[in-house]
Amino acid sequence: MVHDEAPGYAPPTMPRTTSGHAVQQRPHALPPARRRAVQRRLLDWYDAHAQPFPWRTARDPYAALVAAVAAQQTQMSRVIEVYARWMEAFPTLASLARADRAAVLQTWGRAGYPRRAVGLHETARRCMEEHDGTLPRDPEALLALPGVGPFTAAIVRTFGFGDDAPAVDTNIVRVLGRLVFGDLQPARDTSRAEIDAAAAALFPAGEGARWNPALMDYGARVCTPRPHCEVCVVASMCAARPRFAAGEVAAPVRAQGAFEGSERQARGRVMQVLRDAAGGSVTFPTLAKRAGATTAEERARVRILLGRLAEEGLAWTDGRRAGLGHRPAKR
Ligand code: SF4
Repeated sequence: MVHDEAPGYAPPTMPRTTSGHAVQQRPHALPPARRRAVQRRLLDWYDAHAQPFPWRTARDPYAALVAAVAAQQTQMSRVIEVYARWMEAFPTLASLARADRAAVLQTWGRAGYPRRAVGLHETARRCMEEHDGTLPRDPEALLALPGVGPFTAAIVRTFGFGDDAPAVDTNIVRVLGRLVFGDLQPARDTSRAEIDAAAAALFPAGEGARWNPALMDYGARVCTPRPHCEVCVVASMCAARPRFAAGEVAAPVRAQGAFEGSERQARGRVMQVLRDAAGGSVTFPTLAKRAGATTAEERARVRILLGRLAEEGLAWTDGRRAGLGHRPAKR
C-alpha cells in the first residue's frame, strides 16, 4: 500500500507537557478582514502566475489522481514527464484497470517509488468493481482506495470535481506555518493539527481549484525555504515576516539519509534490471550480476530484496527467474 503524505513533510507530533498533556494549540484563524485580504492577494497572484499543468484544468478526477500520486516526493519536472507518459498509455481508469502489472510498472519507470504505480493500478481495479468504473466523489470512499491519502483525495476533489477540500503538501505547510503562526521552519516547528486547522480556516469557499494550487505554487516560488519576502504579496500580513526581516533564518530540516549504498538504491537497481529484461524475465544469476552483486553476501541481499518486491506486488520470482509485476500465466 502506498502511503500518501504531504511530499517531504514529516509532521511533528503535537507538543506535550512533561505530564503528557497536549499543549494548547495556537490561534489558527486570521481576523476576517485579514483573511479576506490574504485570500484575494494570493488568488490574484495565482491568476497572474498560474502554471498551466493539464490536470489542473481538465476537470477529470482520474487525471487529478495520477498527478497527485506522481507528485508525492517528486520534482515537478518529473511529474510532468510521468503524467504525459502515463496518460498516453492509460488514458482512462478503465484502460488502467485492464492493463497488466508489468506494463504499469514499465510505464511508471523511474518516476519515484513504484509502489505508487501499484496503488494507482489497484485503485483503478477497485473503482471498476465497486464504483461503476469511476472515482468516487465522497471523501471517505476516496480515502478507502489504495494509496489515496488526505492530499491525493483533496486534489481529486478540487481539480476533478470542483469541491472545496484543503490540500496540504510541503509547500503549503511552509506558507501556512509562516503566515499564520510565524514559524520559520514549519515542517519542523508547526504541528499537523495546527496546519490542518489553518488550512481549513483560510480556505476560500468555492475556490478550491484555484486556492490549492495558488498555495502550492506560492510555496514553490515565493515562500521558498529561503523566502523572497521582499516581493511577497502578503508580507504585510505575515507573522513570520518580522522575524525574517530581523535577520533570523529558517534552519534546514534534517536531510533524507544518503542514497548511495541505501536499500532504496539497491531496490532501484533491481527494478531497473527487471524493467530492462528482454522477454519479460531474467535468471537470478543474471539479475544479481546486473544489479551489481559480486559477492555471495550481495547476492543474498538481492534475493531478499526480490522477495520483498514480490510481496509488494512489484515483481515475481519462481526461485530461478524473476520479472516485473505478476508472474505470467503458463500457456
Ligand atoms: S512574508 Fe516571507 S515568510 Fe511570509 S509568506 Fe511572504 S515569503 Fe513567506
